[in-house]
Amino acid sequence: MAMSVRSPFVVVMGHVDVGKTLLLDKIRGTSVAYREPGMITQHIGMSLVPWPAVERFAGPLVDRLKLRGRIWVPGFLFIDTPGHAAFSNLRKRGGSVADLAVLVVDITSGLEDQGAESLKLIQSRGVPFVIAANKLDRIYGWRSVENRPFLFAVEEQEWHAVATLEERIGKLIDELSRFGIEADRYDRVRDFSRQVPIVPTSAVTGEGIADLLVVLAGVSQRFIPRERLQVADGPARGVVMEVKEEKGLGVVADAIIYDGRIRKGDVVVTAGLDGPREARVRMLVMPKPLEEMRDPEDRYMAVEEVRAAAGVRIVADGLEGVVAGAPIYAVWDPQAIPHVQKQIKEEIAEIKIESDRE
Ligand code: GDP
Repeated sequence: MAMSVRSPFVVVMGHVDVGKTLLLDKIRGTSVAYREPGMITQHIGMSLVPWPAVERFAGPLVDRLKLRGRIWVPGFLFIDTPGHAAFSNLRKRGGSVADLAVLVVDITSGLEDQGAESLKLIQSRGVPFVIAANKLDRIYGWRSVENRPFLFAVEEQEWHAVATLEERIGKLIDELSRFGIEADRYDRVRDFSRQVPIVPTSAVTGEGIADLLVVLAGVSQRFIPRERLQVADGPARGVVMEVKEEKGLGVVADAIIYDGRIRKGDVVVTAGLDGPREARVRMLVMPKPLEEMRDPEDRYMAVEEVRAAAGVRIVADGLEGVVAGAPIYAVWDPQAIPHVQKQIKEEIAEIKIESDRE
């Protein structure tokens, strides 16, 4: 079967008010400004940052770190909903649908309660992660330049601003060590298999966003098993993010597709609280490319099929009662339906046992 490599899914987590939402906005802005025309960067519930866009946005940094031409991940799909709940729902057999996590902390206040909670959750699912030490612009005396890579910015600062930054990072490293985590400023990490990189960022000025994207690329290639990102040309496998009633469409399921493809007319098997459900796809909905989005009311388009990795809205009869977090599999051979139902039952049982253990 033909295989291709998909973009990893990235979740952003951390304490309230550390800047998760603003950081995602900034990253989304990058993907929009530096993408190729006609490229779809908005998915349902997530935003695609194609690697070529990062190379354009972060060119000098990519060159400094000698990464040009060496990155094979096609990009990143950032889950738009930040936080604990999003991550908790993204389950699949053997761990998480999320391939990578960004733990955001406020550099001026450290890890904090929900930061520590997020950290434990990330560790329990075994997801590779990086730390964004956000609000860099609030370091006393820091001189900001819009969107400048951190690595260049730090070289241009007065010594006292750098000293304050180092003190904050030192504190964070101490806090993390209490969780058994060895971390360091990313440009000082010698062994990425032992140490978690800390990337200073500002969601306000955009400083460090380049570094964050570049570090995510490096971490993806080293720590996400390549097989995990390989997608087969078979029926889709995914997870339901949200089920809701949409005016004129009925009950729809917004889903993350992590393998294969889903087509209009396919049968999908998913699950409600009472067991597996079967539905036939009436329509697949994606956001329109920017160029075609003239009227803000008219943001979506129907598509014939969607390939992993993607976020898609599935319109089908029979989705009532389907729950967020349920697996959703397309079935191409009607005779395989009972088998897929059994798989889904087993998957749910296994995920439940894991959650009870947490
Ligand atoms: P969330 O709760 O983690 O999603 O945090 P938000 O993105 O909503 O940000 C919380 C507050 O912090 C808002 O007032 C933001 O403007 C502010 N904020 C976020 N990131 C930064 C940053 O990098 N620098 C500064 N100075 N403020 C920030």
